[in-house]
Amino acid sequence: MLGRMLPSTSVCGQLNTIANLALAFPNSASYNATEKAYWSLQEASLTPSCIAQPSTSQHVADIVSTIVSHGCTFAIKGQGHAPSAGFANINDGVTIDMTGLHTISVNEDASVASVGAGASWLDVYTFLDPLNKTVAGGRNGAVGVGGLTLGGGISYFSPQVGFTCDTVINFEVVLASGHVIDANGTSHTDLFRALKGGMNNFGVVTRFDFSTLPIGEILGGGIANDISDRHAVFEALANIANAPEYDVYTSIVTSIVFSSSSKSWTLASAPIYAKPNPNPPVYRELFAVPSISNTMHLTSLHAFANETATPQINFLFYTTTFGVSADLLERILQIANASLHDLEIPGVTWLFALEPLPTVLVQRGAGDNSLGTSAQDGNSIVLLLTAVWTDSSYSEGIDAKSADVIAGIEEAARDMGLGRRFRYANYANAKQRVVDSYGVENRMFLEEVAQKYDPEGVFQKLVPGGFKLGD
Ligand SMILES: Cc1cc2nc3c(=O)[nH]c(=O)nc-3n(C[C@H](O)[C@H](O)[C@H](O)COP(=O)(O)OP(=O)(O)OC[C@H]3O[C@@H](n4cnc5c(N)ncnc54)[C@H](O)[C@@H]3O)c2cc1C
Repeated sequence: MLGRMLPSTSVCGQLNTIANLALAFPNSASYNATEKAYWSLQEASLTPSCIAQPSTSQHVADIVSTIVSHGCTFAIKGQGHAPSAGFANINDGVTIDMTGLHTISVNEDASVASVGAGASWLDVYTFLDPLNKTVAGGRNGAVGVGGLTLGGGISYFSPQVGFTCDTVINFEVVLASGHVIDANGTSHTDLFRALKGGMNNFGVVTRFDFSTLPIGEILGGGIANDISDRHAVFEALANIANAPEYDVYTSIVTSIVFSSSSKSWTLASAPIYAKPNPNPPVYRELFAVPSISNTMHLTSLHAFANETATPQINFLFYTTTFGVSADLLERILQIANASLHDLEIPGVTWLFALEPLPTVLVQRGAGDNSLGTSAQDGNSIVLLLTAVWTDSSYSEGIDAKSADVIAGIEEAARDMGLGRRFRYANYANAKQRVVDSYGVENRMFLEEVAQKYDPEGVFQKLVPGGFKLGD
């Protein structure tokens, strides 16, 4: 039962009675450390009444029971890389910082990795690389296992094994009731499927058990091209994304980047190959385009994923998905340029990251996850628009402009018969309708599962952050 409302400061007092639970209050070093760990300034600007820092599943169960019994609002934080304010932090309520649950272990033949939900992907790769194993997780090591997996997860290895969530064989999860259960292929199978894309709508996941896959060195690095060579780059990207037989070791992101200060566009690609091959045929066309710089090299995953952290400034995401066409990519540049070039907002960088979502990837988990993607969609490209800026007084204008550009791109894609329904949760803006984009059947399925495991709607009402089922 949702309990009688107590002010969050009083609930923090109650949490203080949980044995061995670390609890951080405003102005303390550990409170500030959690706030400093958020990727975006927008998230770090929120100030919970206290931050619970559990180190065991039982802690999480006790925290949830206490919070729920007093009707207090709360947020669940993994590695804090979702940029939208309120997704993993909260004003006045309680933030549960899961990063203390970061233990990693493997079974005897290392075919399964059990990962504490608060771990970062760098933790995972650093542990698994010496075993020549990996999990199909995030590309930037600082990103959290929790948020990325529950929203889907696109990895260098996704064409081989599907979304990250498709490689989960068991979720240990704390329900609204405070019970700790396992959801897997034989137990709570409905919840098992719902969590694969269902985000924070069902419980607090405390551990993920992932199938591992073998790994050696990979081809990593980046290539920068002059914007005047974009036609060749777009053709190469479209040919990779639309290959009759997608090479499953291929994982490429091409970004078109605009600086509002220099009013100039640049083009950067990260053409990764998940095998120790310095010159894979799949990249021949791209590598033949004259480059400004080229840092491609063979490397280990954990070394490559250990990227330099960005400063805590304003970040915003928007996403859309469309069919593969070099002409559409050129249209996107034109739409973005028409909108952004003469805009007088200084110091903003806009990145349009384009990455293939081939049918071979989505068909791996189709029907077994809740994302609603299927091979029938055809090969697609997922676009992640990131805006980066320091001066918060421009935030509203930047958000509105980003939404306009995305709307223009979606209209162009529809006009070309290349529109797609899917809006990827992990790249989406808080204003986008992610759950709707999974399709009516998946939405209804998620609502039924939520009703079964969380009949009081705790994760809808008391956890306001993230994409809610009713959004
Ligand atoms: C630099 C960067 C690189 C990225 N690279 C990739 C990439 O390669 N592939 C990709 O698919 N995405 C990528 N993303 C997007 C990323 O997947 C999302 O931002 C994701 O939400 C981050 O997860 P987190 O745990 O760090 O975030 P958080 O902000 O801590 O959490 C995000 C959401 O997940 C919920 N959540 C977190 N942990 C739990 C839990 N244990 N139980 C229940 N709910 C939980 C939170 O409540 C919140 O709503 C990247 C993002 C950034 C900023």
